[in-house]
Amino acid sequence: MMGGDPEHTGPPFFAGDDAGHVGADRPPALPRHVYVHVPVCRSKCTYCDFFSLPVDSVPMPPAAIADALLNQTRAWAERGLAVGGVDTLYIGGGTPTMLGDALPGLVSALAIWCEVEQDAEVTVEANPDSLTPALVETLAMAGVTRVSLGVQSFSDAELAVLGRPHDATEARRAAGWVVDSGLALSVDVMCGLPGQDESSWRASVAAAVGCGPSHLSVYPLQVEDDTPLASAIAAGELTVPDEDEVAAMLAAASKMLAAEGFGRYEVANYARPGSESRHNTAYWTGRPYLGIGPGAHGMLDARTARAAGVIVPDGVARVRYGVTPDLREGLGVMPEVEVEYLSGQEAAREDAMLGLRRTRGIDDALAARAGVVQALKSLAAEGLVSRVSGRWAATDRGWLLGNEVFGRVWAGG
Ligand code: SF4
Repeated sequence: MMGGDPEHTGPPFFAGDDAGHVGADRPPALPRHVYVHVPVCRSKCTYCDFFSLPVDSVPMPPAAIADALLNQTRAWAERGLAVGGVDTLYIGGGTPTMLGDALPGLVSALAIWCEVEQDAEVTVEANPDSLTPALVETLAMAGVTRVSLGVQSFSDAELAVLGRPHDATEARRAAGWVVDSGLALSVDVMCGLPGQDESSWRASVAAAVGCGPSHLSVYPLQVEDDTPLASAIAAGELTVPDEDEVAAMLAAASKMLAAEGFGRYEVANYARPGSESRHNTAYWTGRPYLGIGPGAHGMLDARTARAAGVIVPDGVARVRYGVTPDLREGLGVMPEVEVEYLSGQEAAREDAMLGLRRTRGIDDALAARAGVVQALKSLAAEGLVSRVSGRWAATDRGWLLGNEVFGRVWAGG
């Protein structure tokens, strides 16, 4: 079965320990992008459904987590993947900065094992409560080029409802350390929060800009099932802004950021010219990438995967995998994975769907290859997609109704 539901969990992902190594006759699509997932946080935010555990509940010291992540990377490297020409390395989570002093060493070792390019983009996600000036300095020395700071709001009341373990003052201070160190700063903020109105949202966006970032991620809150926040909303204890209010907040942010010189290059991402995230752009443009650590996802070109010893059925063009979201198993040298296989057309459809997240949209050749031209025409008739400079791009309304647009493109009809 291709596309849709994951195909299987667990071994045999690889044909065997001795099978496969991408050698001298390397296929062209070696992953040049590596994501490493650090699965711990100080505490659990009320809205979070990412795989991360409160650090107090994790029976492993930070150094052991860092070692395990490195060992898993080495296992890929020894199969000829994640070696040489790595253009972006992204250490995310969870909260990587919870690894404290073990984090810079992990970054340096990953950079060596992955043989990252001289001008690689090396990003570390950080939370304000676990960043210190000394850690910022050692991260810079370890080769980090960019810090993505999870702030979410500059209202202490909103932060408290989200269960964030920091306040706005700590966020400003942490951002200042990053900017003072010369590293590029990205700040995340969220709208649609309980108790938020357009005025507090505007204040958060203005405060985020005031921190001096070169990049901002601006998201609407997703209320995920089985989270404390979802329970509180279902019980009537909290209310969130409605869709129209969220749409107005996103539009306000777009205007404010444009006025400050930030270009919107993806539905949720804004950057000063030249500061677009190269790593995330790789996700949206169908570039293969490795995912390391529990809960991480990766994508490989089928030929590359086969050459590395991954079992890939005939007719498959792309292999997606997710490392099992389990601390012990997911930190293993060769962890269990959930695999999804995509045919050539499914891979093209996926590229079209992801490409429509970008402001520049997709070209006619990709739309034709993906078999989605009719779908795009019908979305255009509804004002959800438009023709921009000879390409197909989502409109603002299309982005607001993103599930509808991406779902119909994925369905191809
Ligand atoms: S810091 Fe991020 S990953 Fe950690 S619990 Fe909060 S939202 Fe989840």
